[in-house]
This record gives sequence, structure tokens and C-alpha cells, in this order.
Amino acid sequence: MKVTFAHMGNLYITVKALLEGLGAEVVVPPMPSKRTLSIGSRHSPEFACLPLKVNIGNYIEAMEIGADTIAMAGGVGPCRFGLYGEVQREILKGLGYEFEMIIIEPPQGRLRHVLQQVGRLVGRNPVGRYVSAARLAWAKMMAVDELERSVQRVRPVEGRRGAATAALASALRLVDEAASMARVKRALGEGQEMLLDARAPGADSSDPPRIGIVGEVYVVLEPFVNCDVERRLGEMGVLVERSIYIGDWVREHLFKDVLRLRKGRKPYDLAKPYLRHFVGGHGVETVGSTVEYARQRFDGVIQLAPFTCMPEIVAQDVLPAVSRDLGIPVMTLVFDEHSSDAGVLTRLEAFVDLVERSRRRQSMTGPPRARG
Ligand code: SF4
Repeated sequence: MKVTFAHMGNLYITVKALLEGLGAEVVVPPMPSKRTLSIGSRHSPEFACLPLKVNIGNYIEAMEIGADTIAMAGGVGPCRFGLYGEVQREILKGLGYEFEMIIIEPPQGRLRHVLQQVGRLVGRNPVGRYVSAARLAWAKMMAVDELERSVQRVRPVEGRRGAATAALASALRLVDEAASMARVKRALGEGQEMLLDARAPGADSSDPPRIGIVGEVYVVLEPFVNCDVERRLGEMGVLVERSIYIGDWVREHLFKDVLRLRKGRKPYDLAKPYLRHFVGGHGVETVGSTVEYARQRFDGVIQLAPFTCMPEIVAQDVLPAVSRDLGIPVMTLVFDEHSSDAGVLTRLEAFVDLVERSRRRQSMTGPPRARG
């Protein structure tokens, strides 16, 4: 059994560590590229969400290099994610591929069910092996999140364009290769050093413009599909923070779901004046996180959404009211297979320009007063 899965940012480092730790043979698909997207778009229904199309491309490219089993996360709720697994299975079967697909549904309080599904992927293992594989995978995931947060702080003050991104790539490689908890810790330390070295000598990062990234988890986390929004903003001197990191997503998707702790989370409370109901995906979090960034006096928020993503369309409808009430500029970028780097760059430059003008105005007149 050669197991593969779809890419979502650097999640592959965690998933690979977990599955290999449990004895599976893992085939990591090639990183998403124009070829991946072109294969996925050619074989998916036109109206399908962009993540589904890229996933199809990932699976086909992984099967081309030997994968025969696909693991994917299932979903529930009002959007199309719950259908993804079956639709993808049908598309791939229709193309003649022979494979097994194992869909790991959200636990909804039933951890046993998740373990059964994982067991189908990796066979029987003693409990101790589950514990050590999960610990190593978790340590890697935390290290990846920490490095991604660090690179966001370094990019606006890097000494040479691209130096921070190159340091991050080297650091991620070290984390990926680390075979023990001690090695992950060492890789993280070395990675942080490399990122510090990427800073311009004497760089002052005390007051760069700050922009929060919110939106649908896949486009937020996958730089290939969002045309590398985070890197581009960082290289324009902007300090970027995103509303979700991989660790948050796993905590939400797995642990809180196992313990049924979905309600009462901060973004849900903050979104309430604007959006009171679960709309699927991360629609409510998009609204709540925008409120949070406004409260933290960020200079702007960018919402990232796949074309036709229902939860993000609902959030997009609500965001002008948040922007008006709390005085924070908000821009939405919608991505599909026709999105281009040049088009996205032009919109980012215009938004950063607007944010900087608004900062200059505020430095003379004081921050806008929140309404309502
Ligand atoms: S959250 Fe949006 S992109 Fe993701 S499956 Fe649902 S509708 Fe599609």
C-alpha cells in the first residue's frame, strides 16, 4: 500500500511524519504547479471549487509516481466539502485509475471511528507506536507553524529579496528530515537562526503596515493557489499575519471535534453581531477574525476565497459592514484556475498603497472611531 494525500501548504510534513511513523509507505505528491492545476481542471466539473481541482491534480501526479491509496479528510456542513471524497473517487475511477480511497470523516465525538479509518491505512499498530508517531508529527507541525510565523516577521526587513523565503525552505527541509523529537527541536533552532540571518543588518521592524489574511482554509494555506500572497506582501514591507495556521486547523478539525468543543470559540463570538449561524467552511471565522484584526488595530484585512465558495461569499457580503463599523480597509481576492500572478500583484499593490495612505492620514488625525 503506497499512501498519498493532497497538499495544503506545508501540511505534508506533518502527515508524512504521522503515516511513516505508523509504518505506511508514503508517496508525497509533487508540489502543486501549473501542471497539477491544468490536470485537475481538465478532469473536474467546471463548477467544482478550486481546491477539489488541485486535489485531483495532486492525486493523479502521485499515482503517476506509484501511489495506490488516497487518504483524505472528510467534511460536514452546508458547503460542498462533504461531497468531495465521493466526487473525487468517481472522477478518478472514471479516468480508469485503480486505487483505494480512505476518507477520514470529522470525528464528531467518535475518536474510535477516526482510529479505525487510520488503521485501514497503516494496519495494526501497538498503542505506543500511535503515541510516538503522533508526538513526532505534532512537534513537526508546531515547528512548521512557528517558522511560518517567524518568516512573516522577517520578510518586511530582509536584507536581500527572497532571503527569508530561501531560509524558510531550508528550515522546513530540516524539520521534514528530523527523525526524533530532539532533532525537530534542533531543526527549529537552526531554522530560526537562518531566518534571523536573513534580516538586513540593523533592520528596524518596529512599525511596518500590518495586514491580516482571512478566508477559506485551503487558499489561505496553499501559496500556489493564492499566488503567494503572503510572500508578495512581505516583500512589499508588510507584516502579515493569518487567521489560521496548520496547527489551528488540526486542533479544530480533530481535537475540538472529538471533544465537541465547536461552539463558543472566539471568532464565533466576535462574528455574532454580523453573522450568527454556521455557514460551512470558515465563513464565520473570516468575519470574526476580521473583527479581531480591527480590534488589534491592524491596518487592513485581505479575504482569500476560491471562486464560488459559498461560505466565503456569505462572509464577503458581511465584510463591508465590518469594515465600515470598525474603520478597517478590507479587500477580497477570489481565486480560480484563471487567476494570474500579475493580476493579484496589481491588486495587492493598490491595497498596500491605500493602507499606507490611510496610516498617514491617521497619524495626523488619530484612528477612526468605531461605529455602533
Ligand atoms: S469551503 Fe468553499 S471551497 Fe471549500 S468545499 Fe466548501 S464551498 Fe468549496
